[in-house]
Amino acid sequence: ERLRGLLLSRIRDVPDYPKPGVLFKDITPLLADPEAFTALTDALAGLARERGATKVVGLEARGFILAAPAAVRAGVGFIPVRKAGKLPGATLSQAYELEYGSAEIEIHAEDLDPEDRVLVIDDVLATGGTAEASLRLIRRSGAQVAGVAVLMELGFLPGRTRLEAALEGAPLDVV
Ligand code: IMP
Repeated sequence: ERLRGLLLSRIRDVPDYPKPGVLFKDITPLLADPEAFTALTDALAGLARERGATKVVGLEARGFILAAPAAVRAGVGFIPVRKAGKLPGATLSQAYELEYGSAEIEIHAEDLDPEDRVLVIDDVLATGGTAEASLRLIRRSGAQVAGVAVLMELGFLPGRTRLEAALEGAPLDVV
């Protein structure tokens, strides 16, 4: 609870960003505070260990910033899930629906083995579309899903509900 208070106090609400009517959760004040960033990294690394993760996936772009130090601290590998067209090797791609239009994300499947248990990390769970698509990529690679961990869940959006089927019983943790 003290951890949550510290983390939430370092998240800045930016009204009408990136467009009118949207309240953007900005994590840059948290990243700039070494006590808060370290506490978050430790918490995410603890979750990775608790969930038996052998790899940590970070979702572009803010997920990279949170997942990479957590992977190092947990002593497991880091794997980026990127927007389509950014990864140079052989990729698996997954398209998904956004509020308006669609998006596509990719992973280097060769970096995952069937024995791997993967924890997906991102900053914000909004509609859940990105996290859901990332779980599909992990399953299609043949690896197992250890869970999803996010810093924040936007409670007024049905992210948790959308993600539930794709989780297949794996946990969704909000740090
Ligand atoms: P979703 O696919 O709708 O759940 O959107 C999640 C993606 O959008 C994540 O990768 C988030 O980083 C990003 N996102 C959505 N809303 C916010 C926000 O308020 N702050 C920061 N990132 C956000």
